[in-house]
Amino acid sequence: MKKRNKEEVLFSSDENKFRDELRDFLVREEAKKIEQEIYGSDFYPRELYEKLGEEGFLAPVLPAEHGGKGKLVYEAILAEELGAACVPLAWIQSTSSYVYATIARYGSEEQKRRYLPPLKKGANIGAIAITEPEAGSDVMRIKTRAELLDDKYVISGEKRNITNGSKADILLVWAITNPGVDPARGMSAFIVEPKAGTGVEVLEDYNLLGGFPGTVNSHLRFDAVSVPEENILGGENEGAKIMFDELSIERALYAAMLVGEARPVLELAVAYSMEREQFGTSISRFEAISFKIADMVTRLEAAKLMVYHTARLIDKGFDAEQESAMSKLLASEAFYEVAHSTVQILGGRGLSDEYPAEWAFRMARLSMIPAGTNEIMRFIIQREVYKEHKSKKNLNLLTR
Ligand SMILES: Cc1cc2nc3c(=O)[nH]c(=O)nc-3n(C[C@H](O)[C@H](O)[C@H](O)COP(=O)(O)OP(=O)(O)OC[C@H]3O[C@@H](n4cnc5c(N)ncnc54)[C@H](O)[C@@H]3O)c2cc1C
Repeated sequence: MKKRNKEEVLFSSDENKFRDELRDFLVREEAKKIEQEIYGSDFYPRELYEKLGEEGFLAPVLPAEHGGKGKLVYEAILAEELGAACVPLAWIQSTSSYVYATIARYGSEEQKRRYLPPLKKGANIGAIAITEPEAGSDVMRIKTRAELLDDKYVISGEKRNITNGSKADILLVWAITNPGVDPARGMSAFIVEPKAGTGVEVLEDYNLLGGFPGTVNSHLRFDAVSVPEENILGGENEGAKIMFDELSIERALYAAMLVGEARPVLELAVAYSMEREQFGTSISRFEAISFKIADMVTRLEAAKLMVYHTARLIDKGFDAEQESAMSKLLASEAFYEVAHSTVQILGGRGLSDEYPAEWAFRMARLSMIPAGTNEIMRFIIQREVYKEHKSKKNLNLLTR
């Protein structure tokens, strides 16, 4: 029987080549070392992000005419590898990727020509602005207003918890354009360049639990921000469909990043448990420890398979709202289990900052909220299951 090579089964040779070249780049640029430095001195790795763009690794989801490979699966590989190598770098790439993937899907030719090249090069950073002080899980309740006055939309409102918000060059902002109807039919998405003097104000950069130094999460105010009429994405009042599509992509890619973030933590737990001796033997020989490893690996593998299955569904043009919710749920809970068990396996050292386990534990806890909370992921999954079941004509009840 052939020796098993998981990557060979899961990925095409071109996908593996992309992953290998990316890994080589991240090793060459000492991304892991930079991550450690950021942890001590809190800087935003924008330069390394630009290098990633210059080397051509960014935006593989873009179609060939924009220099990409046209598949989300490459974007998931990128998110996973960055998550494993350098978390702050992965966070910059995350929201930028949601922005360029969405512009590629819904942008006019002019919008693609103008916004995609600097995003692809890493010269620009993108951020997604949906959440508001009074509209979190209930995204249909946003209050930010955009009114068309002459040939410009004037946007007013607040957005909070925006990843990369204060650093972004391009924001995708959702706002109500027709307050007289159900928001599903009365909201639109806009491309906003929040340059100085445009009326986009940074109210605060939050210090979040698990917020890794080098990442940014902002509260923004839009004070009559004027954008050209042509900056509307898709059509007027078509924002809800674009939002749900964006969120499916975001959840799949966010989950890919979490699978990556969990990987070195799991490796730490395995290596540490093999080296650490108590009662005259390696602690890996105690089932209480090694069975934890078995559970961690199993959960993480399941999450990874779900992530790539979801990316391939999206690449084939299927609706993957349920699968992207399942990916985000599985990946965040797998990461949490990996981090929680690693702290336990490392004992007292797991709680100190000698090892990254304590940070991973905070980061994993954080992961249950962005891109939709895990309660909302469960809500979506059950809703889709019941919807599908109801659509079946003959309910096949298990009766005696
Ligand atoms: C690190 C981080 C990064 C983020 N990045 C971005 C970003 O880049 N762009 C952006 O727009 N937003 C971003 N967010 C916002 C994020 O999407 C919201 O925090 C999230 O959707 C939850 O909204 P909320 O915080 O207002 O909580 P709420 O919606 O107020 O929820 C509070 C609690 O009630 C529960 N709940 C609410 N409704 C239901 C329901 N129907 N059934 C069961 N339970 C329910 C929730 O699960 C939660 O436990 C980010 C958040 C974090 C923490």
